Amino acid sequence: MTACLLCGGAATTVLARARDTRFGVPGEWTILACSACGLEQTDPLPSAAELKVLYETHYNWGGERDTTYTDWRERLLLSPLYRLLLVLDGDVSFHGEHGTGRLLDIGCNEGRGLVLYGRNGFVPEGLELNAKAAAAARARGFVVHAVDLAHFRPEQPFDRAVLSNVLEHALDPRAMLRDVHRILAPAGEVWISLPNARSWLRGVFGRAWINWHVPFHITHFTALRLVALLEETGFAVVAARQITPALWVAQSAIAWAFAGRPEQPRMLRQPLLLAGLMAIVRGLLFPLLWLANRVGRGDCLVVKARRI
Ligand SMILES: [Zn+2]
Repeated sequence: MTACLLCGGAATTVLARARDTRFGVPGEWTILACSACGLEQTDPLPSAAELKVLYETHYNWGGERDTTYTDWRERLLLSPLYRLLLVLDGDVSFHGEHGTGRLLDIGCNEGRGLVLYGRNGFVPEGLELNAKAAAAARARGFVVHAVDLAHFRPEQPFDRAVLSNVLEHALDPRAMLRDVHRILAPAGEVWISLPNARSWLRGVFGRAWINWHVPFHITHFTALRLVALLEETGFAVVAARQITPALWVAQSAIAWAFAGRPEQPRMLRQPLLLAGLMAIVRGLLFPLLWLANRVGRGDCLVVKARRI
């Protein structure tokens, strides 16, 4: 019996034979739920060494560049249209937040978020383990630390730390939050977004729900479990809400429509198909998405917590 990675409790199966819909990594995984604390986790857990290879092979700079999809994504993120989209479709990466002070974007990739945080008043720096992505972010003029968070010793603390769809990738989310606590200034805030383990879309799309994202997503948090872990690691939640991005719904729909077919990962990166589906989802389903967010069944948890 696999034990819960946070509390050691007994874990039972909630979903069997989950597959990687994003990149087509071969294999099947099980999602387990802890009967003691409610955390869900992917089983078997990949080792740190396996994850390193997986990220270098598939993620961002290891995978694709200069494709229509990446080109389209780059242009959109830096355009006025993106600001409108943040308002209409929800901001899961805190790209619309304004403020001042030192901000650390943990897992900053090629630094697209750093551009936006800087534009909105912050003094942003990045943390990125992928050397190629870190170099690309530095080429934009930013300070990027290519070091594991556990070994990161900044000369000055940060006022904000962003974990935008990052915490669920950690083999030890408790250690990650303790490290964030260590690098924050007193009353500094951590901003977290991650998929909601209580999303109603899990029931709709089943194994095709895009946010299982095995084997890259190690843990699957409910809002309650996330808040409990934040409190345990020295944080007080100051804001919590839910968002259901039309992009995520569109990706789940595509993964469902092309389930089990070799073109599935490629179809998830078709800009016109995505844009069309997003317009349909946002245009027709908005009352349903709004309601789901309000009753705790949205697709993405968005939480701000202050260091205490
Ligand atoms: Zn547990």
